[in-house]
Amino acid sequence: MNENLSLLVELQKLDLEIDRDEKERKKILAEADRYIKEIEELEEDLLDKEAQLKQTKTEKRIKEGKIEEIDLLIAKHEEEKYKVKSQDEFAALEKEITLAKDQKEKVENLLLELMEKEEDLTNSIPLLREKTESGNKNREIKGKKLATYLDNFTRTREKSEGERKNLTLNLNPIFLEQFERLKKTRDGLAVISTKNGACGGCHVKLSFSLMGRVGKGQGVVYCENCNRVLYCISDNK
Ligand SMILES: [Zn+2]
Repeated sequence: MNENLSLLVELQKLDLEIDRDEKERKKILAEADRYIKEIEELEEDLLDKEAQLKQTKTEKRIKEGKIEEIDLLIAKHEEEKYKVKSQDEFAALEKEITLAKDQKEKVENLLLELMEKEEDLTNSIPLLREKTESGNKNREIKGKKLATYLDNFTRTREKSEGERKNLTLNLNPIFLEQFERLKKTRDGLAVISTKNGACGGCHVKLSFSLMGRVGKGQGVVYCENCNRVLYCISDNK
């Protein structure tokens, strides 16, 4: 095969590898980001629930205190009922007692809600804590794996860049420029093999004379339709 042509084939192969590795790297980094975000959300949720539990306990104590207060008030009024001198005073006390009892019922209902909330939180927090802890442990393991991967990636990338430089140094600059330009508009495939007498890229049938030139592999030949550089697969073996 013509030297420039084989360099182009090599260069494209290398570039496709670099692109593939880069896509893989982005995917892996995005996955790592997602995982970290997941753990952070778990941690936030845990902190939030712990704060809610603390708050619920405080509110519960306040309501319990309030009930005690109301109970004392009712007991006081009950006692006073025996000391009153008129029917009106008695009725007023009865009214006060009824009001206090109504209020107590309201506070008791609120207390019941708080108790249910406390129970829910007490049940869900340990599981959430466990998930957060195991998530953080995994995060450490994943972090180490990622560091190793990135190390390998950097080494591979440096090696590829070195190889690429060597290839481009030996390649005719005009071909290199054409190659870079075509690569952008042809999905990274600037060089393509022929297939059953047609261009492997755009599938347009090639003329007999063009096929002949490609078959000989003596120069850089372009597809008349898509401008890709053509080579014969048997020539590349
Ligand atoms: Zn073509």
